[in-house]
Amino acid sequence: MAICVFCGTELTPDNAHLEHVILNALGGRLKSRELDCKSCNNECGSDCDARLAEDMGPLANLLGIQRESGQPQPIIGKLNGKPIKILTGGKPEAMRPVVEIEKKDKQINIHLAARSTSEAKQILQGIAKKYPIKLDEALAATQVKREHIDEYVEFNLAHGGTDTFRAIVKIAYLFLKLRKPVLKLDTEADLIAFIKVKRDFRFVYYFYPEKEFVEKQPGQILHSIVIKSYPAEKMLVAYIELFSVFSFAVLLSSNFSEDIEETYVFDLISLRELNPPNLNIPTVTLKTLNHVFTAMPSPTDSVTKKYENFLRFALQRQHAVYQKEMIERALQKSLKRYPEGTVITKEMMNEFHSALMEEITPYIIHAIKRTE
Ligand SMILES: [Zn+2]
Repeated sequence: MAICVFCGTELTPDNAHLEHVILNALGGRLKSRELDCKSCNNECGSDCDARLAEDMGPLANLLGIQRESGQPQPIIGKLNGKPIKILTGGKPEAMRPVVEIEKKDKQINIHLAARSTSEAKQILQGIAKKYPIKLDEALAATQVKREHIDEYVEFNLAHGGTDTFRAIVKIAYLFLKLRKPVLKLDTEADLIAFIKVKRDFRFVYYFYPEKEFVEKQPGQILHSIVIKSYPAEKMLVAYIELFSVFSFAVLLSSNFSEDIEETYVFDLISLRELNPPNLNIPTVTLKTLNHVFTAMPSPTDSVTKKYENFLRFALQRQHAVYQKEMIERALQKSLKRYPEGTVITKEMMNEFHSALMEEITPYIIHAIKRTE
């Protein structure tokens, strides 16, 4: 019978909780009902989990990563100081429609910017109840418009602080308990106390070794967990990397003499576990690790490279989606208007081409403007 890794209560179908080792909100899929009980799940780290999801959610969103339950949450960014919603895949959407009604003598001017035709209709229906407007005419006067945003949308990719580190230690501890349920660490009480914010724990920090500890192929974005013991140094260390970008080390114990190595590497793009992954597990000593835990962070080449790789990949993915959508919209406006089975004529093809050009031209102009 499994017991809760936090409180030791026996787990039953009634009190067991389906725990994700890496948050599902971040695309994590590794989960078990044999890790913790419902009450510990509430007590242990639901606040730091929320914080981690908030910190790293923008990456899941930019990549358009599928969660087990639905799409990633939209994130709220800022455009020219005003909030703007970023939908999955990096698509911006206005937070709310804009309605301005101006009365001049007997004339009423309505300025309306809605997010969809149906929203515009709804708003106009509301206005028609108060003002003598002709609904059909007003609706006919609306236009569907798409705009490219040239300014940068800012959003918070804040990470750091105790809460993020608590969530990282929690991932390491849950993973260890998942793979080695009967293993007992001398530090367990300290780890749990840290996860519950009841004690400090200084053995966790960002860690960017010279060589990435999990090799990746182009087009892969990985969540990786490696737990490795160094018997000669009596250490048990966890390396955790999220989104192939955020990389951490946790010293789980410095009084550990067994020989263990456990890995889990999940590709967020193919939604597959890499088995076995190619590892370059760093050679570390207690001294070098202690240096990592106490040193101030310094931006290094490997950190920069990780971010560059991530952004390049995320942008390519967004462009690919956008290009598909342009073609689909052009098809909707042309060939797809005809009943199925209609023989395609030259005129229909011309219609499709001009619809496609209407889509592509602003896109290209926008791209040129950006590189100028
Ligand atoms: Zn419990």
